[in-house]
Amino acid sequence: MLIRSVETFILRVPLGGKTFYSSQAKFPERNSLLVRITTDDGIVGWGEGGQYGPPEPVASVIGDVFAPLLVGQPADRPVVTSERLYAFSRDFGQKGTYVEAISAIDIAMWDIWGKRLGQPVHALMGGAFRTSVHAYATGCYYPEAPWDRDRLLPDLEAEAATYVESGFDILKMKIGLLSVEEDMARVAAVRRAVGPDIRLLVDCNHAYNANTAIRIGRELEKFGVHWIEEPVVPEDRAGYQRVRAAVSVPVAGGEAEFTRFGFRDFLSEGCVDIAQPDICVCGGLSEFLKIQALASAFGVLTVPHVWGSGVALAAALQALATIPPQPHTANPVALQNEPIVEFDRKHNPLRDDLLVENFSLRDGRLDVPQGPGLGITVDEAVLRKYAAA
Ligand code: CA
Repeated sequence: MLIRSVETFILRVPLGGKTFYSSQAKFPERNSLLVRITTDDGIVGWGEGGQYGPPEPVASVIGDVFAPLLVGQPADRPVVTSERLYAFSRDFGQKGTYVEAISAIDIAMWDIWGKRLGQPVHALMGGAFRTSVHAYATGCYYPEAPWDRDRLLPDLEAEAATYVESGFDILKMKIGLLSVEEDMARVAAVRRAVGPDIRLLVDCNHAYNANTAIRIGRELEKFGVHWIEEPVVPEDRAGYQRVRAAVSVPVAGGEAEFTRFGFRDFLSEGCVDIAQPDICVCGGLSEFLKIQALASAFGVLTVPHVWGSGVALAAALQALATIPPQPHTANPVALQNEPIVEFDRKHNPLRDDLLVENFSLRDGRLDVPQGPGLGITVDEAVLRKYAAA
Protein backbone atom coordinates (compact mmCIF):
# COMPACT_ATOMS: atom_id res chain seq x y z
CA MET A 1 0.00 0.00 0.00
CA LEU A 2 1.74 3.12 -1.30
CA ILE A 3 0.81 6.78 -1.23
CA ARG A 4 -0.65 7.79 -4.58
CA SER A 5 -1.59 11.44 -3.95
CA VAL A 6 -1.45 14.16 -1.32
CA GLU A 7 -3.98 16.99 -1.74
CA THR A 8 -4.69 20.04 0.41
CA PHE A 9 -7.93 21.94 0.95
CA ILE A 10 -8.21 25.41 2.48
CA LEU A 11 -11.65 25.80 3.99
CA ARG A 12 -13.11 29.16 4.94
CA VAL A 13 -16.44 30.26 6.40
CA PRO A 14 -17.06 33.94 7.17
CA LEU A 15 -18.83 34.33 10.51
CA GLY A 16 -20.72 37.49 9.55
CA GLY A 17 -22.69 38.69 12.54
CA LYS A 18 -21.24 35.91 14.71
CA THR A 19 -17.72 37.41 14.77
CA PHE A 20 -16.04 37.19 18.20
CA TYR A 21 -12.81 38.18 19.96
CA SER A 22 -10.21 36.56 22.18
CA SER A 23 -7.59 38.71 23.91
CA GLN A 24 -5.45 38.50 20.78
CA ALA A 25 -7.65 38.99 17.80
CA LYS A 26 -10.99 39.24 16.10
CA PHE A 27 -12.32 36.00 14.59
CA PRO A 28 -14.19 37.05 11.45
CA GLU A 29 -14.10 33.54 9.96
CA ARG A 30 -13.43 29.89 10.61
CA ASN A 31 -10.66 28.39 8.55
CA SER A 32 -9.05 24.96 8.33
CA LEU A 33 -6.31 23.32 6.33
CA LEU A 34 -7.20 19.73 5.48
CA VAL A 35 -5.05 17.15 3.76
CA ARG A 36 -6.37 14.15 1.87
CA ILE A 37 -3.94 11.32 1.25
CA THR A 38 -5.02 8.56 -1.15
CA THR A 39 -3.29 5.19 -1.47
CA ASP A 40 -2.75 3.15 -4.62
CA ASP A 41 -5.47 0.76 -3.48
CA GLY A 42 -7.97 3.56 -2.97
CA ILE A 43 -7.94 4.16 0.80
CA VAL A 44 -8.44 7.82 1.70
CA GLY A 45 -7.05 9.39 4.88
CA TRP A 46 -7.87 12.86 6.25
CA GLY A 47 -5.75 15.14 8.38
CA GLU A 48 -5.77 18.75 9.58
CA GLY A 49 -2.84 21.08 10.21
CA GLY A 50 -2.59 24.26 12.30
CA GLN A 51 -5.25 26.05 14.25
CA TYR A 52 -6.31 29.62 13.46
CA GLY A 53 -3.14 30.83 11.77
CA PRO A 54 -3.16 31.39 8.01
CA PRO A 55 -3.64 28.02 6.27
CA GLU A 56 -1.80 28.93 3.05
CA PRO A 57 1.78 28.44 4.34
CA VAL A 58 0.83 25.01 5.76
CA ALA A 59 -0.73 24.06 2.43
CA SER A 60 2.44 25.17 0.65
CA VAL A 61 4.71 23.08 2.87
CA ILE A 62 2.52 20.03 2.33
CA GLY A 63 2.04 20.53 -1.39
CA ASP A 64 5.41 21.94 -2.45
CA VAL A 65 7.81 20.32 0.03
CA PHE A 66 6.41 17.15 1.58
CA ALA A 67 4.10 15.72 -1.11
CA PRO A 68 6.96 14.99 -3.53
CA LEU A 69 8.73 13.11 -0.71
CA LEU A 70 5.61 11.09 0.13
CA VAL A 71 4.20 9.93 -3.19
CA GLY A 72 5.23 6.32 -3.82
CA GLN A 73 6.18 5.72 -0.16
CA PRO A 74 4.46 3.20 2.18
CA ALA A 75 1.17 4.56 3.53
CA ASP A 76 0.91 2.43 6.67
CA ARG A 77 3.64 3.74 8.98
CA PRO A 78 2.78 7.15 10.43
CA VAL A 79 5.50 7.18 13.10
CA VAL A 80 8.26 6.42 10.61
CA THR A 81 6.93 8.95 8.11
CA SER A 82 6.62 11.73 10.68
CA GLU A 83 10.13 11.11 12.01
CA ARG A 84 11.52 11.30 8.48
CA LEU A 85 9.63 14.48 7.62
CA TYR A 86 10.80 16.13 10.83
CA ALA A 87 14.39 15.04 10.22
CA PHE A 88 14.14 16.52 6.72
CA SER A 89 12.85 19.90 7.96
CA ARG A 90 14.59 20.11 11.35
CA ASP A 91 17.15 22.73 10.33
CA PHE A 92 14.49 25.22 9.26
CA GLY A 93 11.25 24.01 10.80
CA GLN A 94 11.53 23.02 14.46
CA LYS A 95 8.37 24.97 15.37
CA GLY A 96 5.44 26.42 13.51
CA THR A 97 4.35 25.83 9.93
CA TYR A 98 6.49 22.80 9.15
CA VAL A 99 5.38 20.95 12.28
CA GLU A 100 1.76 21.85 11.53
CA ALA A 101 2.18 20.35 8.07
CA ILE A 102 3.66 17.17 9.58
CA SER A 103 0.70 17.07 11.99
CA ALA A 104 -1.79 17.04 9.13
CA ILE A 105 0.05 14.30 7.23
CA ASP A 106 0.54 12.23 10.37
CA ILE A 107 -3.17 12.31 11.25
CA ALA A 108 -4.09 11.30 7.70
CA MET A 109 -1.66 8.39 7.82
CA TRP A 110 -3.12 7.09 11.08
CA ASP A 111 -6.54 7.36 9.45
CA ILE A 112 -5.31 5.30 6.48
CA TRP A 113 -3.64 2.68 8.67
CA GLY A 114 -6.79 2.27 10.76
CA LYS A 115 -8.97 1.95 7.67
CA ARG A 116 -6.55 -0.59 6.24
CA LEU A 117 -6.77 -2.74 9.38
CA GLY A 118 -10.45 -2.03 10.07
CA GLN A 119 -9.58 -0.59 13.47
CA PRO A 120 -10.13 2.81 15.10
CA VAL A 121 -6.99 4.87 15.55
CA HIS A 122 -7.14 4.65 19.34
CA ALA A 123 -6.87 0.85 19.09
CA LEU A 124 -3.69 1.20 17.02
CA MET A 125 -2.32 3.68 19.55
CA GLY A 126 -2.49 1.02 22.22
CA GLY A 127 -6.12 0.93 23.26
CA ALA A 128 -8.71 3.12 24.92
CA PHE A 129 -9.15 3.99 28.58
CA ARG A 130 -12.63 5.34 27.78
CA THR A 131 -15.20 5.27 24.99
CA SER A 132 -16.50 8.78 25.70
CA VAL A 133 -14.89 11.88 27.16
CA HIS A 134 -16.25 14.39 29.66
CA ALA A 135 -16.67 17.63 27.68
CA TYR A 136 -16.15 21.22 28.71
CA ALA A 137 -17.71 24.19 26.99
CA THR A 138 -15.46 26.92 25.65
CA GLY A 139 -17.45 30.12 25.29
CA CYS A 140 -17.92 33.54 26.84
CA TYR A 141 -15.63 35.23 24.34
CA TYR A 142 -15.92 38.95 23.66
CA PRO A 143 -18.53 40.25 21.22
CA GLU A 144 -17.55 42.39 18.29
CA ALA A 145 -16.32 45.91 19.12
CA PRO A 146 -17.39 48.58 19.90
CA TRP A 147 -18.53 47.06 23.18
CA ASP A 148 -21.73 48.19 24.78
CA ARG A 149 -20.55 48.28 28.39
CA ASP A 150 -24.14 48.11 29.64
CA ARG A 151 -24.81 44.87 27.75
CA LEU A 152 -21.47 43.15 28.34
CA LEU A 153 -22.22 41.57 31.73
CA PRO A 154 -25.92 40.72 31.27
CA ASP A 155 -25.20 39.12 27.87
CA LEU A 156 -22.31 37.17 29.34
CA GLU A 157 -24.42 35.90 32.23
CA ALA A 158 -27.16 34.79 29.83
CA GLU A 159 -24.64 33.01 27.62
CA ALA A 160 -22.99 31.22 30.55
CA ALA A 161 -26.37 30.00 31.76
CA THR A 162 -27.08 28.37 28.38
CA TYR A 163 -24.03 26.11 28.75
CA VAL A 164 -25.21 24.85 32.11
CA GLU A 165 -28.67 24.25 30.68
CA SER A 166 -27.22 22.19 27.83
CA GLY A 167 -25.50 19.83 30.25
CA PHE A 168 -21.96 21.14 30.80
CA ASP A 169 -20.51 21.27 34.28
CA ILE A 170 -17.15 22.74 33.22
CA LEU A 171 -17.01 26.08 31.42
CA LYS A 172 -14.04 27.98 30.00
CA MET A 173 -14.26 31.71 29.42
CA LYS A 174 -11.93 34.24 27.83
CA ILE A 175 -10.14 37.00 29.70
CA GLY A 176 -7.29 39.34 28.81
CA LEU A 177 -8.81 41.75 26.32
CA LEU A 178 -10.06 44.36 28.79
CA SER A 179 -8.56 45.87 31.94
CA VAL A 180 -7.99 43.56 34.89
CA GLU A 181 -10.88 45.21 36.73
CA GLU A 182 -13.32 44.79 33.84
CA ASP A 183 -12.28 41.19 33.24
CA MET A 184 -12.61 40.30 36.92
CA ALA A 185 -16.13 41.78 36.80
CA ARG A 186 -16.80 39.42 33.87
CA VAL A 187 -15.49 36.42 35.83
CA ALA A 188 -17.67 37.45 38.79
CA ALA A 189 -20.68 37.72 36.47
CA VAL A 190 -20.12 34.24 35.03
CA ARG A 191 -19.66 32.75 38.49
CA ARG A 192 -22.89 34.45 39.57
CA ALA A 193 -24.71 33.06 36.53
CA VAL A 194 -23.54 29.44 36.80
CA GLY A 195 -23.52 29.10 40.58
CA PRO A 196 -20.85 27.58 42.82
CA ASP A 197 -20.92 23.99 41.52
CA ILE A 198 -19.84 24.58 37.91
CA ARG A 199 -16.10 24.33 37.43
CA LEU A 200 -14.83 27.49 35.81
CA LEU A 201 -11.66 27.77 33.68
CA VAL A 202 -10.20 30.99 32.27
CA ASP A 203 -8.15 31.40 29.10
CA CYS A 204 -5.89 34.46 28.81
CA ASN A 205 -4.43 33.61 25.36
CA HIS A 206 -1.09 34.88 26.76
CA ALA A 207 -2.39 38.41 27.37
CA TYR A 208 -0.32 39.23 30.42
CA ASN A 209 3.11 39.86 31.82
CA ALA A 210 3.90 37.57 34.73
CA ASN A 211 3.26 40.29 37.32
CA THR A 212 -0.24 41.00 35.95
CA ALA A 213 -0.96 37.28 35.60
CA ILE A 214 -0.04 36.77 39.26
CA ARG A 215 -2.33 39.62 40.32
CA ILE A 216 -5.13 38.08 38.28
CA GLY A 217 -4.39 34.57 39.51
CA ARG A 218 -4.87 35.75 43.10
CA GLU A 219 -8.22 37.28 42.17
CA LEU A 220 -9.24 34.08 40.40
CA GLU A 221 -8.58 32.07 43.56
CA LYS A 222 -11.52 33.89 45.14
CA PHE A 223 -13.84 32.70 42.36
CA GLY A 224 -12.81 29.06 42.70
CA VAL A 225 -11.31 28.96 39.20
CA HIS A 226 -9.93 25.55 38.24
CA TRP A 227 -7.28 26.60 35.72
CA ILE A 228 -5.65 29.64 34.23
CA GLU A 229 -4.68 28.96 30.61
CA GLU A 230 -1.76 30.61 28.80
CA PRO A 231 -1.28 33.37 31.37
CA VAL A 232 1.93 34.57 29.68
CA VAL A 233 3.48 34.24 26.21
CA PRO A 234 4.69 30.72 25.37
CA GLU A 235 8.33 31.84 25.14
CA ASP A 236 8.30 33.16 28.73
CA ARG A 237 8.98 29.97 30.65
CA ALA A 238 10.32 31.90 33.64
CA GLY A 239 7.03 33.81 33.65
CA TYR A 240 5.09 30.55 33.69
CA GLN A 241 7.18 29.38 36.64
CA ARG A 242 6.54 32.63 38.54
CA VAL A 243 2.79 32.40 37.99
CA ARG A 244 2.68 28.75 38.97
CA ALA A 245 4.69 29.37 42.13
CA ALA A 246 2.64 32.39 43.18
CA VAL A 247 -0.97 31.25 42.74
CA SER A 248 -2.89 28.16 43.75
CA VAL A 249 -4.98 28.07 40.53
CA PRO A 250 -3.54 25.30 38.29
CA VAL A 251 -1.71 26.62 35.24
CA ALA A 252 -2.53 25.19 31.78
CA GLY A 253 -0.74 25.76 28.49
CA GLY A 254 0.87 24.23 25.44
CA GLU A 255 -1.40 24.90 22.46
CA ALA A 256 1.39 27.03 20.97
CA GLU A 257 4.16 24.53 21.75
CA PHE A 258 5.57 22.02 19.29
CA THR A 259 6.98 18.50 19.37
CA ARG A 260 8.39 16.48 22.24
CA PHE A 261 11.39 18.77 22.28
CA GLY A 262 9.31 21.86 22.99
CA PHE A 263 7.28 20.00 25.62
CA ARG A 264 10.44 18.57 27.18
CA ASP A 265 11.53 22.12 28.01
CA PHE A 266 8.01 23.28 28.92
CA LEU A 267 7.56 20.37 31.34
CA SER A 268 11.06 20.06 32.76
CA GLU A 269 11.07 23.78 33.57
CA GLY A 270 7.88 23.32 35.56
CA CYS A 271 5.67 25.63 33.49
CA VAL A 272 2.29 23.90 33.76
CA ASP A 273 0.01 21.66 35.78
CA ILE A 274 -1.98 20.75 32.66
CA ALA A 275 -0.33 20.20 29.26
CA GLN A 276 -2.41 21.17 26.23
CA PRO A 277 -0.81 19.90 23.03
CA ASP A 278 -2.98 20.48 19.97
CA ILE A 279 -2.90 17.35 17.80
CA CYS A 280 -2.99 19.45 14.61
CA VAL A 281 -0.10 21.62 15.82
CA CYS A 282 2.25 19.59 18.03
CA GLY A 283 3.28 17.06 15.35
CA GLY A 284 0.19 14.88 15.06
CA LEU A 285 -0.85 11.71 16.86
CA SER A 286 2.62 10.15 16.66
CA GLU A 287 4.17 13.13 18.44
CA PHE A 288 1.22 13.37 20.84
CA LEU A 289 2.06 9.89 22.15
CA LYS A 290 5.58 11.03 23.00
CA ILE A 291 4.40 14.30 24.56
CA GLN A 292 1.80 12.48 26.65
CA ALA A 293 4.44 10.01 27.84
CA LEU A 294 6.68 12.92 28.89
CA ALA A 295 3.81 14.68 30.65
CA SER A 296 2.88 11.58 32.62
CA ALA A 297 6.50 11.19 33.74
CA PHE A 298 6.34 14.76 35.07
CA GLY A 299 3.03 14.09 36.84
CA VAL A 300 1.18 16.45 34.50
CA LEU A 301 -2.30 15.72 33.14
CA THR A 302 -2.60 16.04 29.34
CA VAL A 303 -5.76 17.76 28.11
CA PRO A 304 -5.39 18.36 24.36
CA HIS A 305 -6.29 21.75 22.99
CA VAL A 306 -9.00 21.46 20.33
CA TRP A 307 -9.81 23.91 17.54
CA GLY A 308 -10.54 23.59 13.84
CA SER A 309 -12.86 21.31 11.93
CA GLY A 310 -14.52 18.00 12.68
CA VAL A 311 -11.34 16.26 11.52
CA ALA A 312 -9.38 17.99 14.30
CA LEU A 313 -12.01 17.09 16.89
CA ALA A 314 -12.06 13.44 15.76
CA ALA A 315 -8.25 13.26 16.00
CA ALA A 316 -8.38 14.81 19.48
CA LEU A 317 -11.03 12.31 20.63
CA GLN A 318 -8.91 9.41 19.36
CA ALA A 319 -5.97 10.79 21.35
CA LEU A 320 -8.09 11.49 24.42
CA ALA A 321 -9.28 7.89 24.49
CA THR A 322 -5.67 6.77 25.06
CA ILE A 323 -4.66 9.13 27.91
CA PRO A 324 -4.29 7.26 31.20
CA PRO A 325 -5.76 8.81 34.34
CA GLN A 326 -3.03 11.02 35.81
CA PRO A 327 -2.47 9.64 38.38
CA HIS A 328 -4.39 6.37 38.52
CA THR A 329 -7.29 6.07 40.93
CA ALA A 330 -10.06 3.51 41.08
CA ASN A 331 -12.57 6.32 40.43
CA PRO A 332 -11.06 8.92 38.08
CA VAL A 333 -12.62 12.39 38.36
CA ALA A 334 -12.91 14.61 35.28
CA LEU A 335 -10.29 17.36 35.26
CA GLN A 336 -8.85 16.23 38.61
CA ASN A 337 -7.09 13.18 37.14
CA GLU A 338 -9.21 12.31 34.12
CA PRO A 339 -8.80 14.15 30.78
CA ILE A 340 -11.62 16.30 29.40
CA VAL A 341 -12.38 17.41 25.85
CA GLU A 342 -12.65 21.02 24.72
CA PHE A 343 -15.94 21.65 22.92
CA ASP A 344 -15.92 25.19 21.59
CA ARG A 345 -19.45 26.55 21.50
CA LYS A 346 -19.06 29.41 19.06
CA HIS A 347 -20.50 29.02 15.55
CA ASN A 348 -18.36 26.52 13.61
CA PRO A 349 -19.81 25.03 10.40
CA LEU A 350 -16.46 23.36 9.69
CA ARG A 351 -17.01 21.17 12.70
CA ASP A 352 -20.79 20.85 12.64
CA ASP A 353 -21.48 20.48 8.90
CA LEU A 354 -18.33 19.00 7.32
CA LEU A 355 -18.74 15.43 8.50
CA VAL A 356 -21.51 12.96 7.83
CA GLU A 357 -21.31 12.11 11.55
CA ASN A 358 -22.40 14.48 14.32
CA PHE A 359 -20.62 15.34 17.53
CA SER A 360 -23.32 15.83 20.09
CA LEU A 361 -23.25 16.01 23.83
CA ARG A 362 -24.65 12.99 25.65
CA ASP A 363 -24.78 13.20 29.44
CA GLY A 364 -22.15 15.94 29.23
CA ARG A 365 -19.81 13.71 27.21
CA LEU A 366 -18.64 13.26 23.61
CA ASP A 367 -18.33 9.76 22.19
CA VAL A 368 -15.00 8.62 20.78
CA PRO A 369 -15.60 7.61 17.13
CA GLN A 370 -15.42 3.82 16.87
CA GLY A 371 -15.27 3.33 13.09
CA PRO A 372 -12.04 2.46 11.26
CA GLY A 373 -9.34 5.14 11.26
CA LEU A 374 -10.53 8.46 12.66
CA GLY A 375 -14.06 7.07 12.44
CA ILE A 376 -15.39 9.94 10.37
CA THR A 377 -16.66 10.59 6.82
CA VAL A 378 -15.97 13.94 5.19
CA ASP A 379 -19.00 15.16 3.22
CA GLU A 380 -17.37 16.05 -0.09
CA ALA A 381 -20.23 18.36 -1.13
CA VAL A 382 -19.73 20.42 2.03
CA LEU A 383 -15.97 20.30 1.46
CA ARG A 384 -16.43 21.83 -2.00
CA LYS A 385 -18.80 24.44 -0.62
CA TYR A 386 -16.24 25.73 1.90
CA ALA A 387 -13.07 25.18 -0.11
CA ALA A 388 -11.50 28.49 -1.11
CA ALA A 389 -11.20 28.95 -4.86
CA1 CA B 1 -6.58 28.57 24.57
